[in-house]
Amino acid sequence: MNHFTYHNGELCCEDVRIKDIAAQVGTPFYLYSTATLKRHFTAFESGFEGMAHQTCFAVKACSNIAILNLFATLGGGADIVSGGELFRALQAEVEPQKIIYSGVGKTGKELREALQAGILMFNVESPQELDRLQAVAAEMNTIARIAFRINPDVDPKTHAYISTGLAKNKFGVPVAEALQEYLRAKVMPNIKIVGVSCHIGSQLTQIEPFIEALRKVKAFIAQLEQEDIQIKYVDMGGGIGIPYDDEQPPHPTDYAAAVRAELTGMKVTLILEPGRVLVGNAGILVTEVQYTKVNSGGEQEKRFIIVDAAMNDLARPSLYGAHHEILPVHAPAAKERQRADVVGPICESGDFLAKDRIMPEVQPGELLAVMSSGAYGFSMSSTYNSRPRAAEVIVSGGSFQVIRQRECYADLVRGEAVSALA
Ligand SMILES: *Cc1c(COP(=O)(O)O)cnc(C)c1O
Repeated sequence: MNHFTYHNGELCCEDVRIKDIAAQVGTPFYLYSTATLKRHFTAFESGFEGMAHQTCFAVKACSNIAILNLFATLGGGADIVSGGELFRALQAEVEPQKIIYSGVGKTGKELREALQAGILMFNVESPQELDRLQAVAAEMNTIARIAFRINPDVDPKTHAYISTGLAKNKFGVPVAEALQEYLRAKVMPNIKIVGVSCHIGSQLTQIEPFIEALRKVKAFIAQLEQEDIQIKYVDMGGGIGIPYDDEQPPHPTDYAAAVRAELTGMKVTLILEPGRVLVGNAGILVTEVQYTKVNSGGEQEKRFIIVDAAMNDLARPSLYGAHHEILPVHAPAAKERQRADVVGPICESGDFLAKDRIMPEVQPGELLAVMSSGAYGFSMSSTYNSRPRAAEVIVSGGSFQVIRQRECYADLVRGEAVSALA
């Protein structure tokens, strides 16, 4: 359910016509609906009502501070994976005691910054990281609260690039080695063990892999208890999928019910790190058609719709072959439809937003909406081909606000210098 719907043939975001935003902001731009963001957050939360839990939005999915702040005002925390994301979360007024720090490569500087901020917990991903964290915390004369991210070796049945909980993935500590690490951590003077975490992948469309992972976590917690190590937080990570095409991901409340059933009787606080499921369908990418052309001469004619957004703006189609619905902002009167590739201006054949898609016939100057682009959209964008990054806009009711200005050419060369060396 989202708030991008047609009224009198014009695609709107809540009560605002998208063409009116385009006229003021230009294209391409990302557009988010406040009502959809709120709805997704509260729907997700409702499943865990009455349970001790904390939802920490995965910042990497959509990092704009307006979005982070919106979730913070609804009680959300943040799951961060870099010093930059910590900075964003703090700028957005996320409470430090609701911040979780995940990721395999935390630098000494990043650990220091997070300790300084007083975050809730570090999800430690290797023995060496534990040693470094102990050293940094000792230097700062403070205590670091930790969980180990354990790798449960569960197949999430998703795209290989976004699977993270298999033994062959770089993430976490194998269950078999984790006990030894907890025992090491237990006697470290500046480390306090508080949790166990796991995150098995993204865009999962089934509940079973989550439950399989949770059972392994539970069995592991029982082992820890025998060693007199008490666990306060069970961090289930994120990963619930959304419908991009014809996927049928579990409803968040079904996911919550399954997790709740598994945790009955355990005195722990559940931590959740949803990303995509909160923002994916709350954002779109709006782009303008520049040209259309037909390349004949091959085995068959090939039609192209060339737009002003590209793989630098939305990488998912190129990167994962991901499907994004593409809708005309002005609903076509004549239903003439043709198969076409929707492509950007970047000098790469991998630069496409859709391949072999049945599209209404469109003319240069028309606007298209690339749906379900709220997650891993702007946050994965780059300036490849020296294309300034797109603007980000949010709508609430009948109003809209630019929450990130379109970059300009000067932004592209910020920090660069013509070399003075001969
Ligand atoms: C990416 C990530 C998430 C969020 O994943 P989604 O699939 O967007 O829900 C949560 N936790 C960790 C550790 C991650 O790396």
